[in-house]
Amino acid sequence: MPAPWAAVWPEWKNEKRIGIGSFGTVYQAVRTTDAGEERAAVKIISVPQREAEVEALKAEGLGPEGIRRYFEEKARELLSEVRYAQEMGTHPHIVRVEAYAMQQDEEGPGFTLFIRMELLTPLGDYLADKSLTPRDVVTLGRDICEALAVCHRKQLLHRDVKPENIFVDGEGRFKLGDFGIARRLDNPATYLTQVGTPYYMAPEVFSLHSYDGRADIYSLGLVLYRFLNRSRLPFMNEGRLSSPADRRRAMEWRLKGEALPLPQDAPEGLARAVLKACAFKPEDRYATAEDFGRALEKSLQESSAGTEKKRRKRWVLAAGLLLLCISLFFLIKGLGRTEVPEESITEALAEAKTTTKAPAETETETETETETETEALTEAPTFTDEKRFVFLPAGEGQGYAINHISPKVFYGDLRIPEQYQGLPVTGINDTVMKGLQVQGDLVLPASFTSLGAMDLADCQVAGRVMVPGTVEWVEWRCFGGSKLGSLELQEGVKLLKSGSLSETRIDYLLLPASLLSAGKALDETSQIGILEIRSEAVLDEWTNGQAGAFCTPEEIRLGTNIRHYYVQDGCLIYRPGKTLIRTARDFNIPADGSVERIGFYAIDWTGKDKESLVIPDTIQFIEEDAIRR
Ligand code: ATP
Repeated sequence: MPAPWAAVWPEWKNEKRIGIGSFGTVYQAVRTTDAGEERAAVKIISVPQREAEVEALKAEGLGPEGIRRYFEEKARELLSEVRYAQEMGTHPHIVRVEAYAMQQDEEGPGFTLFIRMELLTPLGDYLADKSLTPRDVVTLGRDICEALAVCHRKQLLHRDVKPENIFVDGEGRFKLGDFGIARRLDNPATYLTQVGTPYYMAPEVFSLHSYDGRADIYSLGLVLYRFLNRSRLPFMNEGRLSSPADRRRAMEWRLKGEALPLPQDAPEGLARAVLKACAFKPEDRYATAEDFGRALEKSLQESSAGTEKKRRKRWVLAAGLLLLCISLFFLIKGLGRTEVPEESITEALAEAKTTTKAPAETETETETETETETEALTEAPTFTDEKRFVFLPAGEGQGYAINHISPKVFYGDLRIPEQYQGLPVTGINDTVMKGLQVQGDLVLPASFTSLGAMDLADCQVAGRVMVPGTVEWVEWRCFGGSKLGSLELQEGVKLLKSGSLSETRIDYLLLPASLLSAGKALDETSQIGILEIRSEAVLDEWTNGQAGAFCTPEEIRLGTNIRHYYVQDGCLIYRPGKTLIRTARDFNIPADGSVERIGFYAIDWTGKDKESLVIPDTIQFIEEDAIRR
């Protein structure tokens, strides 16, 4: 059978499948050259990943060409990430990307990406029959620090440093791979996205605060910690297999800022260096990956000096004790009659027993506490368990409303049930979901018809929040103060009330074609990454000056259905009136005559050099309140 990449690299044959990751499958490929056989790893990624994505776009009214274009854009975005990886792959500690290609699928609107990399040994396989000595851990840490230093200098965060992304080459060098989710540092719209593997994730990434290279240093610190701690992450029990509940509890403690215990097998200096890298507050960590690398190297020297000193001390102490015992023996023997009473021995023994037992008891206590903690957490990855909700009748024959939800932290997706006892779940009672934290997606049921004030206020959702089209309106401050990976209002949603998106931080916001008004939903306190507008009604509203305040997204995109507006150089322009309606964070007003007028609240220039705004000569009219300085 021909290799899946036969059309792009016909000379490379498929030898075997290596493994399947979250986004793609990796194969081992081989080709014969004059110099002999050459091997590589080929990663294949499909866009879309699931057929359901096509269906969702169809449901949004996109035709075959629109869907194809959509996936093409997505595939190209991914390829640009691979390009960064290729740029960096010349470094000895970064996995080398040899080539990449993109191919349109013969059937269906999708695309397939092929990434050919150097073939390496995954760290897990490398460790199958050996364990790492502290010296090996330092070498691994220093190698990966070098890789991170290069990334960070290029304004790139890796954001998924974990053992699965570390490889070893034939010369025993450790290499960092999988830049699939690395994003450019200088794009806040994306670097605020919560990505990565939670087991190694830095607390500030988990809590969606802005973060920098020190988050990668933290993750690497945790990787090293694990190798110095009998393959266990902080707070994991020794001596028995860990359950998912154990892992979640351990992660919770870590993310809450509990001081990490010393890794068990680390010499003192090395333990200190690793704990500093894993400090809860970024400002307490090493400032750069280079600093961490240097500290690791030094730590071992310190440790060996320290160990030598300690060993000498122990010898002196042991010799002293021996002398003391000998003297005592002769003293007692010499006195002949001095006996130690039996009760004292029993008492002393009992005391000694209690003292030795103490840590074990503490452990049991911790275990009980742990169970309670675990109660407060959910099953990953998808959660619809009705036991965690309390429902109250919403009114005679009107179904049920959610009156309580426990716990409020979810490590997977959270799907709100559609029904309770055969009746629809129609809404959420006063602020019961306020402060919810979901690491995956939050999917609201199609049985909801509206979202009330503060219903999803102060929430953190790393993935997507899907609001079904059955929700006709969204009330004042519904999402106030929330941080969301994306907020996708499905076709059918009609009204976003004033202030419903105030003080929110959303990486991707989709306003559907069905939306009739989003008047003052967005304001100067809303931080939006990508704003995708498919509603011409909302755009008309802005043209008419009905949207009161500035909201400056990083990027503005328009649905393919939009006729009267377009985006050029970061400027949203009303075509018939040649009016600039809004700008993205980075923009240049087109000077080709396509813009003659600057509309109401179009430009937010606050915080920038007052004189530096370039208004081309082609502009004939600037509305009052058009520019905020
Ligand atoms: P995730 O996608 O969640 O990060 P992952 O890292 O396991 O998971 P992939 O990067 O797709 O996913 O890798 C799939 C498998 O292929 C893994 O077993 C990985 O070790 C292996 N692999 C990836 N790149 C290479 C490579 N260059 N050489 C050898 N094996 C590789």
